[in-house]
Amino acid sequence: MIAIPASTARIQPGAFRDRFHVPPGPDGSESVYFTGNSLGLQPLATRAALMTELDDWARLGVEGHFEGTHPWYSYDEPLKEPLARVVGALPHEVVAMNGLTVNLHLLLTSFYRPTPRRSKVVVIADAFASDRYAIASQIRWHGLDPADNVIAVEPEPGAHLVDDEAILETIATHGDSIALILISGVHYRTGQAFDFESITRVGHEHGCTVGFDLAHAAGNLDLQLHEWGVDFAAWCSYKYLNSGPGSVGCAFVHERHSDNPHLHRHEGWWGNDPATRFSMPESFVPHVGAAAWQLSNAPVFSMAPLRVSLGIFDEATMPALREAGLELSSALLGALESVAGDAVEVITPRQPKRRGCQLSLRFPRGGRAIQEALAGAGVSSDYRHPDVIRVAPAPLYNTVEECGRFAEIIGEVIRR
Ligand SMILES: *Cc1c(COP(=O)(O)O)cnc(C)c1O
Repeated sequence: MIAIPASTARIQPGAFRDRFHVPPGPDGSESVYFTGNSLGLQPLATRAALMTELDDWARLGVEGHFEGTHPWYSYDEPLKEPLARVVGALPHEVVAMNGLTVNLHLLLTSFYRPTPRRSKVVVIADAFASDRYAIASQIRWHGLDPADNVIAVEPEPGAHLVDDEAILETIATHGDSIALILISGVHYRTGQAFDFESITRVGHEHGCTVGFDLAHAAGNLDLQLHEWGVDFAAWCSYKYLNSGPGSVGCAFVHERHSDNPHLHRHEGWWGNDPATRFSMPESFVPHVGAAAWQLSNAPVFSMAPLRVSLGIFDEATMPALREAGLELSSALLGALESVAGDAVEVITPRQPKRRGCQLSLRFPRGGRAIQEALAGAGVSSDYRHPDVIRVAPAPLYNTVEECGRFAEIIGEVIRR
């Protein structure tokens, strides 16, 4: 049993750094790794967790499904509680399966059901490509034209950010024709965190279904998906959740949908009630909750890293990580202001409620050269054409000292 500290416990940013492999920079010393929003670092314990599964396979063959250290038949079951704690859900509302975009499609199949009167989808402008493709292809799959059915909420002219108010007004204006609101909880490019609670409430007041892509929000914000009444969500486990490249995706379905017999769903044997799964009943008997959306048996080699990662999140706890994450990004904001002044524009909102770990920095004199200089100085950051650099100090393994070092390096590069 893992002891779970009270949610009021605080942690120092970087308190879990010695549990992770920090990649070396060009001089061989530990880099300043600010790209955990893109690919989180590898926990030291992940290798052994994978070896356990390989050893069980070697030792037990098919018997590993029931006799293994962590029996594969029910491998996903013990993940539900810690996964639910990361996103503020009930255990039967979450499931680890597939990849993020696959899960978006599976959930859109159930939750985007256009009618002649209600067919539109509200999104934030400039959403991540995969989300745009998934939505457009779903709309076409229903025989409709994305050009008439996507409402993208845009920033004010000349601005980078979309006001939460603008989203709520869009919902109010088009309410009767909106089937679905699908928002990226934290925008991948700007780092802006949206107001989940108000969007969900106002969406529901207008009879819309409300879903979120949590790619940049899971393991970053302190989410309360159940309490906020979000209908569904999907996320990946390789960004803030540190489960390794292309690792298993996750999904949330609010319990109010869990026993709706009229729901359309793509079904497979792994979504069947485990009690009768192997007797292979003639027709599908859905598993309770989000697990009913599972199609295939658990990909154990990508779930083992998730199991390790969720153990670390349980030790740290999400409320404490959220506080430590804000401490880091605030330290970074302060340090940047003092060294760089006007030479850098921070696109990400300053208000703590409206951001997570990531800060998106705009360098009007060009971002590419700065990112290359940062890499040379042992800082891992990420560049988005033409002038944005994204940095995301992650509270499990990044420190306030690294934020100061980052700002110093920026200061030097700018003065050159
Ligand atoms: C990272 C990310 C993805 C990636 O999708 P995969 O299916 O995991 O490859 C999708 N959407 C958003 C918003 C992302 O940030």
